[in-house]
Amino acid sequence: MADLEKLKRNLEERGFAVSCFDTAEEAAAYLDAALDQKTIGIGGSVTIQEMGLAERLGTHNRILSHWTGGTQEEAAGAQVYLSSVNGAAETGELINIDGTGNRVASGLFGHEKVYFIIGQNKVAPDYDAALWRARNIAAPKNAQRLGVQTPCAAKGDRCYDCKSPQRICRALVVYWEKPRSMDMEVVLVRQDLGY
Ligand code: SF4
Repeated sequence: MADLEKLKRNLEERGFAVSCFDTAEEAAAYLDAALDQKTIGIGGSVTIQEMGLAERLGTHNRILSHWTGGTQEEAAGAQVYLSSVNGAAETGELINIDGTGNRVASGLFGHEKVYFIIGQNKVAPDYDAALWRARNIAAPKNAQRLGVQTPCAAKGDRCYDCKSPQRICRALVVYWEKPRSMDMEVVLVRQDLGY
């Protein structure tokens, strides 16, 4: 079972603010109270979709997302950015893989604050295990969701490090520490969320 207390401690040592909730509903209520009258960018995130955050926060904030009719460029200019990660190591490293690059770019620069919302299923004991899950669990499931022509989407079992024109894994970002220019908060949830 994921050790979220250990993860919280190690993330805090690396400069991240961390909040922890038992349920997705509690985490959504927390974000709903924290964010008001903001522009909020959202990249592609099944976690955020499952939590209904665009709809909930959109009643009193302006949501900028290509999933809600906006553009990725608009989301990149938002005050606040919401995302998840593909892997979180209990030792404190956060890992994201991206195809377009908008999500990893927004997680590095350009916003007042970034929130990473992370379900317990994303957590692995150490860096190598978190990278393995990002590549072999998260990426193939995302490839299947997107319906791309890749070996992982066809079989759904692992990464084949493909050379497919539709490969979705084109950039890997590891957060060793919180980037300097933005506030960052990790919202941990003791439930499975996203891939
Ligand atoms: S590199 Fe290719 S095979 Fe591996 S997960 Fe990404 S898209 Fe799938």
